[in-house]
Amino acid sequence: MSEGVSNIQHPVSNMHQLIFATGNPHKIREVEQLLSGRFEVLGLKDIDCREELPETRPTIVGNALQKAEYVHEHYGVDCFSEDSGLEIDALQGAPGVYSARYAGEGRNSDDNIDLVLQQMAGATERSARFRTVIALILNGETHTFEGVAEGTILGKRSGSGGFGYDPIFRPLGYQQTFAEMDAATKNAISHRGKAVRKLVEFLQSL
Ligand code: IMP
Repeated sequence: MSEGVSNIQHPVSNMHQLIFATGNPHKIREVEQLLSGRFEVLGLKDIDCREELPETRPTIVGNALQKAEYVHEHYGVDCFSEDSGLEIDALQGAPGVYSARYAGEGRNSDDNIDLVLQQMAGATERSARFRTVIALILNGETHTFEGVAEGTILGKRSGSGGFGYDPIFRPLGYQQTFAEMDAATKNAISHRGKAVRKLVEFLQSL
């Protein structure tokens, strides 16, 4: 497999280019800013990748690897992908890898939260964690970086910021849910923030 970046459409610098296998421009900008001129981070549309990436493995790490491997194999570029989920101990780790579609296809975050609250009604053991795994394929080698945020599932929603399960997740050591925190505070302690910082530290050490 080629290690080059020949099929990137907009090569604008001599910096080492890395594709972030996501369609979310906010996530791309956030990581690129952290890499402060060391790497140029581009998105899937920059390599003209418009198809949905496969996410069919039964684990978060499996899905992160699957997406990165797909992009590397089909487009021949250095790349990384991330996959996240919420693991609730009283639900044996659910929703886990199925976090985005826990209440079923076509349902939204509100429906997912309703289902979790219903399943957790009366539960005294309410510990949970968000987990993010980033899979990086660089110069033919694969690396993974994990970030975990431990916390508690509340009995009802609190706060309107963030996304996904944020209104019912209160991180350990805090009185607020993720949905009650500003973005910078959440990022400093979140699973995704931790995984991204590990990735950035690794790339800066090269
Ligand atoms: P993704 O892999 O980052 O797309 O995350 C998968 C799903 O996990 C999301 O659709 C959310 O339901 C949930 N999730 C991941 N990260 C967070 C978070 O920071 N807050 C709330 N929900 C999250």
